[in-house]
Amino acid sequence: GYDDGFIDVCLFNGCIRNSENEHLAKLLRDKSKVLVAFGACATMGGIPGLANVASAQEIKDLVYRDNPSVDNPDGVYPQERYAVPEGELVLPHMYDTVKTLAQTVDVDYFMPGCPPEAHQIAAVLDVVTAALKGEGELPPKGATVGVSPKTCCEECKRVKEEKKISSFRRIWEFIPDAEQCLLEQGLICMGPATQAGCGARCTTVGMPCRGCYGAPEGVIDQGAKMLSTVASIIDAPTPEEIAEVAASVPDPVGTFYRFGLADSLLRRARV
Ligand code: SF4
Repeated sequence: GYDDGFIDVCLFNGCIRNSENEHLAKLLRDKSKVLVAFGACATMGGIPGLANVASAQEIKDLVYRDNPSVDNPDGVYPQERYAVPEGELVLPHMYDTVKTLAQTVDVDYFMPGCPPEAHQIAAVLDVVTAALKGEGELPPKGATVGVSPKTCCEECKRVKEEKKISSFRRIWEFIPDAEQCLLEQGLICMGPATQAGCGARCTTVGMPCRGCYGAPEGVIDQGAKMLSTVASIIDAPTPEEIAEVAASVPDPVGTFYRFGLADSLLRRARV
């Protein structure tokens, strides 16, 4: 095997969902001089982190017992160890809680995005390789790299006026205006609570920002930041009507914490 520190830079992709992921994370930490949490999953859990609304057992029940498309009359579940004539088959242990890379091992840098932008990846690799060759300085440990110190809204070219929303809608329910801010049109756009760096690619083509670049600097919880933004723009005169507008937010956990639940203050639901 390679000596510890043999690998100059490791871009670690994916969250820590099971014992195999954890083993690889620890192994690659030891073998790498610089370990980068690469992409939304390694950085903040990503979409797999949404599984933290349930336990591992609840997920297995849904897949192998309650799933109408699965033919499993004997209720067979995957076994972690299973004897076959050739020997023993072993599956990784699936944890209850999806973790980020930094919740598992020491991480040098974070590069969010789903996926991170190609030009940002190239820029980060240039900086790190130059520093390892003694031709430059590494960024401070723990830095988020390949991003810009703004929000997605600041990169977005859409026309922003007053934000006042009396109901929220989904993208397939209407064709949004090509110029106006999507949030002002009743689509939940995570731009105000998302770090810039992608060049506002999604909003440029008419899709709301999903938040894959994570919280901007200084924001601890991306979902909570977006919730407070939404709360401040609901336009309804009575508490009942406000509650009605709030209830029109589609899939609140999947919307506000689409990529960041595992790294949020909530982190997981109680089960
Ligand atoms: Fe652009 Fe979305 Fe921000 Fe509106 S809320 S300005 S559409 S990023």
